[in-house]
Amino acid sequence: MIEALKQNKELWDLFSRREEYNPLISDQYQRFPYYLSKHRNILEPEVSKFLIGNGLNLEVEYPEDKKFAVCLTHDIDAVYPSRLSVTLGAAKSLMQHQIKNAFKTLLKSIKKRRNPWWNFKDIMALEAKYGAKSSFYFLALSTGERDFNFVVEDLENELRNIEDNDWEVGLHGGHEAYNTLDEIKKEKKRLERVLGKKVIGYRNHYLKFKVPDTWELLSKAGFKYDASFGYADCAGFRNGMCHPFKPFNLDTNEEIDILEIPLTIMDCTLFNYMKLDMRGAWEVTKLLIDTVERYNGVITFLWHNTYMVGEELKFYEKILKYCYKKGAWMGSGEEVCEWWDKLGIII
Ligand SMILES: [Zn+2]
Repeated sequence: MIEALKQNKELWDLFSRREEYNPLISDQYQRFPYYLSKHRNILEPEVSKFLIGNGLNLEVEYPEDKKFAVCLTHDIDAVYPSRLSVTLGAAKSLMQHQIKNAFKTLLKSIKKRRNPWWNFKDIMALEAKYGAKSSFYFLALSTGERDFNFVVEDLENELRNIEDNDWEVGLHGGHEAYNTLDEIKKEKKRLERVLGKKVIGYRNHYLKFKVPDTWELLSKAGFKYDASFGYADCAGFRNGMCHPFKPFNLDTNEEIDILEIPLTIMDCTLFNYMKLDMRGAWEVTKLLIDTVERYNGVITFLWHNTYMVGEELKFYEKILKYCYKKGAWMGSGEEVCEWWDKLGIII
């Protein structure tokens, strides 16, 4: 099938993301943004459509005979809101001045009752209402590293509870991980130590990604799948695929041994980058869900734990409700990856 795709230069370039090899410019986070892409038809999964039209059986059936899949994911960048971080910082230094116990109590109560971002159990309960599961990708940063907000070891009980309930814990790679094998390995090892088991799923912070290098590094580090591959500045199908796929390296002329579960919609893409209001955001979301349903594909959502409040939380539940009514199979990246392995589809 890859041979048929190679014959179609335009679609082959789109699938392999040729234009992202050595780009002249990138954005402030070293990303290739949608606004630099020659490909303008981001809302149509053109490559998936071509493959289906050429006989590749992508009209997949999902568990329980479901017709399309929704991959639900959450990046955990922060668990302490910034003002709280300041309070915690102050509390820490005060603790060193002999009023340790009083502050310990205070911290515990903040963690348990007041902190709206310490919401992993609430997220799982919400998803369970709709028969869904999801993946949580945790940063594993050290003090002083860019965007450091929490010590992942402090979340051990939460992480283990997520896994015990059959949701997934994956790695959210830090700012430099996408480009540095040692960094990916170090963060992976640290998360695995806390979790007490291997981690197979990955997404990079800020969706930083270098084609094809990041895929190669993730494969070398032992990940089974990546879920970073979507544009931060626009929702849709970055390489025309609305199905998971094995990426192809144009430099080595070989397939890379990792599954990409492409990211379709990130919360802040809709509300910050695309600057849509709630109505507009829903129109785009609905359009993309309906499109993926039409092609029996997988639509992947990224909803940060910090977006699980107020209007954004309502929006997330609206997505769950809509997909549930449509009879979608809603699972974690790990579940999608296992299912894909079972199907043995080769593109
Ligand atoms: Zn992040």
